[in-house]
Amino acid sequence: MSQSNLVQTICHSQKLRFVIAITLLTLAGFIGTSLISYFVAVKAVSNQITDSALPLTSDNIYSEIQRDLMRPVFISSLMAHDTFVRDWTIAGEQDEQSLVRYLAEIQKKYETVTAFYVSDNTRQYYHSSGVLRTIEKGPVINDWYFRVKNMPEEYEINIDHDTANPNRLSVFVNYKTYDYEGQFIGATGVGLALEKVQELIESYQKKYNRVVYFIDKQGKPTLRGNQFIANPETLKHKQFYQLLKAYGQKTQTSFQYKTGSHTYYVNARYIPEFDWYVIIEQKDDEQTDKLFNSLILNVVVSILISFLVLTASYFTIAAYQKRLEHMATTDSLSGALNRHSLDILLAQTIRQAERKNQAFSGILLDLDHFKVVNDKYGHLVGDQVIKDAVDLLRAQLRESDVLCRWGGEEFLIVLPECSLESARQIAEQIRTKFMQHEFCHGDRLTASIGIAEFRLTALSDTEQADNSETWLHRVDMALYQAKESGRNKIVLG
Ligand code: GH3
Ligand code: MG
Ligand code: MG
Repeated sequence: MSQSNLVQTICHSQKLRFVIAITLLTLAGFIGTSLISYFVAVKAVSNQITDSALPLTSDNIYSEIQRDLMRPVFISSLMAHDTFVRDWTIAGEQDEQSLVRYLAEIQKKYETVTAFYVSDNTRQYYHSSGVLRTIEKGPVINDWYFRVKNMPEEYEINIDHDTANPNRLSVFVNYKTYDYEGQFIGATGVGLALEKVQELIESYQKKYNRVVYFIDKQGKPTLRGNQFIANPETLKHKQFYQLLKAYGQKTQTSFQYKTGSHTYYVNARYIPEFDWYVIIEQKDDEQTDKLFNSLILNVVVSILISFLVLTASYFTIAAYQKRLEHMATTDSLSGALNRHSLDILLAQTIRQAERKNQAFSGILLDLDHFKVVNDKYGHLVGDQVIKDAVDLLRAQLRESDVLCRWGGEEFLIVLPECSLESARQIAEQIRTKFMQHEFCHGDRLTASIGIAEFRLTALSDTEQADNSETWLHRVDMALYQAKESGRNKIVLG
């Protein structure tokens, strides 16, 4: 490692830690922002579903139900209030065929699967195809009639086996019929094929891409699509129980719950005409999956971008910093270390010497009569001579030695793990090389040299242990004496 790099390492060992900290902060920022926007988006989606999408669907379905399913209720109401039916009953059910014809006409005109009338007086079950049988208390198949007779409401919608065709399930509208005094005289209505109603519900489901079904007072699903499987989590949810408790009072309610990783959104809307609730249910799947995927994508892209940006900036900063550090630690003319670097390396050398208890020495060298070179050849040549001198010195030194340009043409060399005697030998080599070397201006130059060994311990009362100042002072004094004693000399301090 070069001396300049060593100084840089000592000064900037925290660089990596700094870059890691910046990386972590950037990543935390990116990921934090992505997470916040993810949760905000999920909340927005869930609010949008519960506050607007599901209520809107239930409103739409409600109006479609009114269009599609209310028709049989109207037809039954029309039959129950028809003066012909009432007069015919009051008159003693004389011409049975006229009522049968009436029922057949209704069935044909309104395309229902059945049309019926049960007289309370005779308990005869009239159907579009004739008089089928008598309704008597006892058989389960007749329960509906007695329920209708005793219920306070005008009509009910009921899913039951058809009397005319016991194998077929139908949706019946059972309407109460009264005479002109308000006395109950029978029940009438029409029936729709259950499959038709199921198809209708399936068409809603398809259209709105949600599960649609109806529930009754007991919370049991009544009308539903063919493939319907009740979601038990919805049916046992506490909000669902609350809805049943306040049955009919709440016209609309929404709730949501989480099972596993999915959120279910439920909306219930009361259909007073049926005395049922229509339930619309939606699983979060698609939207939140999409949001989650974009979160993952965001995080991956963030990591990649942070990594790329940080790698690029690391290398740019590192290269730039290297140049700056080189400029800050070396002398631009000669490439030797400057005084700032020397302070750092000298301190490190002293610490090392104290730890190992091993002497080190220093050489201070000044070119003799350098002014003459400048005066004679000019400053540029003088500069070149200084560079020459540095190359010459470097060639005499070890890798671990520290060469510093101390002043104009004055150099300080720190020699770690080197006694005074070894330093003297090196200095002697240097002095000789200077004398032998032909510098770029074609002339020779001599150098005066001062040497001192760093005193780790006090030798006597007058020769105290050194610190950097006392040691430098001693080397400087030695150089001064070398000059004083005629130049091209080595003096030991
Ligand atoms: P001495 O033997 O007493 O050292 O005589 P000297 O002429 O070398 O005197 P001294 O060391 O005091 O002066 C050094 C001269 O070096 C003074 C200055 O003009 C010149 N000098 C200092 N720095 C530079 C430099 O970077 N380039 C050049 N060309 N000359 C410099
Ligand atoms: Mg000089
Ligand atoms: Mg000088």
